[in-house]
Amino acid sequence: PPTHNGLVATQKEREHHDGHTNNVGEGRLQIVNEHQEFSKELSPYLSKWGLLDKGFAYDVVSVFGSQSTGKSTLLNRLFGTSFDVMDESRRQQTTKGIWMCPSSYGNTLVMDVEGTDGRERGEDQDFERKSALFSLASTEVLIVNLWEHQIGLYNGANMGLLKTVFEVNLGLFGGGGDSSKPKPQEKTMILFVIRDHVGSTPVSNLTATLTQDMEKIWASLSKPQHLADATLSSYFDLSFATLPHKVLMPEKFEEEVIELRKRFTDRSRSDYVFQPSYHKRIPADGVGFYMEGIWQQVLTNKDLDLPTQQELLAQFRCDEISASATETFLASSKVVRKPVEAGQVIEGLGVLMKDWLDTALGKFDRDASRYHSGVYQRKRLDLLSSLHSNLSSLFLGQLKNLHKIELNNFTKNLSKGTKEVNYDFAKIVTSAQEQAKQNFLNGAKEVVVDGTDWEYTSELELLEDDLRNIADRYRKDETKKMVNTIERNVKRQLFEPVEVALSQPSPKMWDTVLTTYKEVSEDAEGSYLSKAKSYNCSDEENETALASLRARTWLSLRRKLEEQTSDATILATLRTTFEERFRYDEAGVPRVWKPEDDIESAFTKAKEETLKLLPIFSQITPSTPSLLPTLPSPEVSFDIESDPIPFDPSTAFVLLSPTKLLSLETRFKREADAAYVEAKRSMVSSVAQ
Ligand code: GDP
Ligand code: MG
Repeated sequence: PPTHNGLVATQKEREHHDGHTNNVGEGRLQIVNEHQEFSKELSPYLSKWGLLDKGFAYDVVSVFGSQSTGKSTLLNRLFGTSFDVMDESRRQQTTKGIWMCPSSYGNTLVMDVEGTDGRERGEDQDFERKSALFSLASTEVLIVNLWEHQIGLYNGANMGLLKTVFEVNLGLFGGGGDSSKPKPQEKTMILFVIRDHVGSTPVSNLTATLTQDMEKIWASLSKPQHLADATLSSYFDLSFATLPHKVLMPEKFEEEVIELRKRFTDRSRSDYVFQPSYHKRIPADGVGFYMEGIWQQVLTNKDLDLPTQQELLAQFRCDEISASATETFLASSKVVRKPVEAGQVIEGLGVLMKDWLDTALGKFDRDASRYHSGVYQRKRLDLLSSLHSNLSSLFLGQLKNLHKIELNNFTKNLSKGTKEVNYDFAKIVTSAQEQAKQNFLNGAKEVVVDGTDWEYTSELELLEDDLRNIADRYRKDETKKMVNTIERNVKRQLFEPVEVALSQPSPKMWDTVLTTYKEVSEDAEGSYLSKAKSYNCSDEENETALASLRARTWLSLRRKLEEQTSDATILATLRTTFEERFRYDEAGVPRVWKPEDDIESAFTKAKEETLKLLPIFSQITPSTPSLLPTLPSPEVSFDIESDPIPFDPSTAFVLLSPTKLLSLETRFKREADAAYVEAKRSMVSSVAQ
């Protein structure tokens, strides 16, 4: 009979076992409980066991066999684990489910399945099938535990169990592809551990029988069409071990367990069991998610599609790894985000960004590259583009700040340059412009990240526009300053000749004034043009400035003439002219009137001659009309008051109205009359003396 009775653990053994439990008892986890629920604790436990960051450098072993055949006992002895062992003295049942515990000897995860006694009940077979599926999806080495006397018995439950294992395995690893050959990672080792080996039958006989039995079971499987030719050995490597009776020969048992353990721990041995080809290539940090997914699939009785499971796992894990890489990335980049937003240019930002990218991608590559490569590549692109788009706001911010700072520097350089003595404005602008552009370009190039389509040409164009605008503003100011200077010169050159001419009124007076005006105007324009050459002014700007200059020159003349034709000035001029004629003789000697002198006719002559001069002032009238200047148009932008009179041909040359002339004449006559009376009186008094 397959069920083994009469083996009762001694008290001493239990103590030994309990002692062990106390050592690593904390480390055991029920990954699937009696209600077939999957534990949420697997990943935390893997982390606690120090396996989470092992990548592929870990192994998985699980055990199969009838109930109460000493499986848990064997695992505990082999791996130092703490699985529950049935206590037959108290007939205590172990807790149903799938258990996991790390080996005390190396990075090995050990899984133990606990069902219930007796396979009669359908549910147990169901659980066995489920746990077989589950274990095979990750196990490298499957220990099949059986009594020596079970070998060769076909009616036993064990054979059914193995058939289950084979079927399940074909379902798992036989499905994909059109080849009947499994992929390297789809191979599993079956290690038969023959218990209570008495030794009367040679091991070679036992293994031969077992191998034959396996081949028979394999042959009896109903395989899918495309796997009809598949051989047992392309999916499984068979290996064997025997152990003596644990109760009857405890020392021998212990010795051989230690020997058997070496096959799990000593890589140098030829019979080392964890060969790379058995590894299911689930990275350790994905085991939790993967196993849970497998179990859910098993539960819903769906066909287990491992490639899909691995892709799902890859997606999930790559997302997690990507999120964690992004988190670190954001934490590093956070430091500069505020200053950039506040307008600061970060020195070496490009190097920093490259560093954050490299760190994030390095982290991602290290952990995620172990997963499904298509998914990994895709998720890597996603990550990269999300990191790039995250950095692009910093890039744009830096450009904006570079722009602002270079504009500032440019303005400063212009201000400084135009304060120096004898500066060349055009040179100052050109070199400041070059410097601003170069600095901007250097900064912009530094901050472009390789592999992006980031560009700064439009920002550069904006900068150039702004530089041009500022330069234009400065040039306008400069031109204005220059026009002002020339205007001062114009006034200096114009005023004295005009004053002189108008103080000696004559019909030729206007020719003198207008000739001087013409010369001074031409001089002013010439001096503007020669200075403006270095300013890079546009023709339009030159036109504006010249128009302004012409308007101002004309206005200067006109204002001077108005001043010279004010009532007081005209009266003074007339008085002087009159006195020169009346009170002085032809030789310029002051007259002393004598009684015989004809004061009256002298007076009348002087008065009339002087009065003849008055109308000359009323209007600018040169000897030929061609001497009259063309009137400039008023230049409003140069702050000239908008008085239309000086610029309107009908008024511009008129200085005194007829009424004004009349009133001046009257006033002058009165003054002249006074002079006559005075002259008379002075003669009478000189006679009286
Ligand atoms: P499992 O149900 O297969 O995990 O078996 P357990 O490890 O719980 O052990 C069931 C019973 O078998 C316990 O009472 C053990 O003491 C006993 N047992 C353990 N190892 C051996 C062994 O090597 N030979 C025999 N005959 N009994 C054993
Ligand atoms: Mg057990």
